[in-house]
Amino acid sequence: MLNKQQLEEIKGFIEDGSKIAITTHTNPDGDAIGSALAVYHYLKSKGANVEAVVPNSFPGFLKWLSKSKDLVVFEKQAKKAKTILAEADLIFCLDYNALSRVGAVTDDLKAAKAKKILIDHHISPETESFDYIISETNTSSTGELVFDFINAMGDEKLIDRTIAECLYTCIITDTGSFSFSCNNAKTFEVAAKLIEKGVDARKIHGLIYDTFSESRLRLLGYAINDRMLVWEELKTALIYLTKDDLRKFNYKVGDTEGLVNFALSMDKVNVAVLVTDKDKKVRMSFRSKGEFSVNDLAREHFNGGGHRNAAGGNMSKPILEVVEEIKSVLKNYKEQLNYENDF
Ligand code: 5GP
Ligand code: MN
Repeated sequence: MLNKQQLEEIKGFIEDGSKIAITTHTNPDGDAIGSALAVYHYLKSKGANVEAVVPNSFPGFLKWLSKSKDLVVFEKQAKKAKTILAEADLIFCLDYNALSRVGAVTDDLKAAKAKKILIDHHISPETESFDYIISETNTSSTGELVFDFINAMGDEKLIDRTIAECLYTCIITDTGSFSFSCNNAKTFEVAAKLIEKGVDARKIHGLIYDTFSESRLRLLGYAINDRMLVWEELKTALIYLTKDDLRKFNYKVGDTEGLVNFALSMDKVNVAVLVTDKDKKVRMSFRSKGEFSVNDLAREHFNGGGHRNAAGGNMSKPILEVVEEIKSVLKNYKEQLNYENDF
């Protein structure tokens, strides 16, 4: 956590009317959007002059979060977003560890004169890029760290139901509804406090996980049935989706969220990969069980990173070549991949 002096400096920015911006990573997920909106509501409740910028669109299942319409999407409102960043005195950098993770926003973030505060839980933060750093890699989510930050500011009482719903969303989406990255009492204590603040756990779970469109569910079935390769000797399962596949199932942002976990759910699999041809680049999502670090794999071979058991990467090659490349890289890890499933 920040020291007393640093927390006083942050209070100064909030109280003297300085311009504050909030940013998060590209392809924002529940933790990114939840923590950005939690900080947004918190700072507004303190009377701060604050705006939040996200690099690109976010999944429909997060749109129920209060004030999600206030988020300035850089991809759609570049001029407004650029002005916010250029004029900011303090920028919150949430749920990412390196300036390059904000995609289209990177150049403006680098050029910004503002002081930067990092709140994040990813491995190997780029410390030189930030003035204030809250980086805990053994925490469930950035949302949990935002909870700690608000407490350290002496403001737990300002966490109302709205902020609590944002933070609860962070925790459940980054832990697969309390199934990983949360094997500690503290995460559950924070969740309990959020429930005390008025969170309806059943309702939030429903809003996030039980709001599929028919085409999203059919895409899931197709991906598992027709597009999953299983390489038993590598204890790996890989699902790939081409541009045509996505078009055919009327793909919307967020529709492949969680898909990679189905591939990981097989007993004989230690690593799962989802490869999608969504944007200009081919995107990869990696997941592992136990000791094999997909963070190292993504960092060393696929221009990415993340956490030990969940990471992402990208490549500029035709999708089937990317699939072949993943297989040939994994062949070099054959021994490391062949451990007993240790849950
Ligand atoms: P996902 O597979 O859900 O997109 O991402 C899994 C985890 O890896 C998330 O914590 C995400 O922030 C991180 N991640 C995803 N893509 C990248 C990437 O290209 N670079 C880095 N450093 N981290 C990534
Ligand atoms: Mn996160």
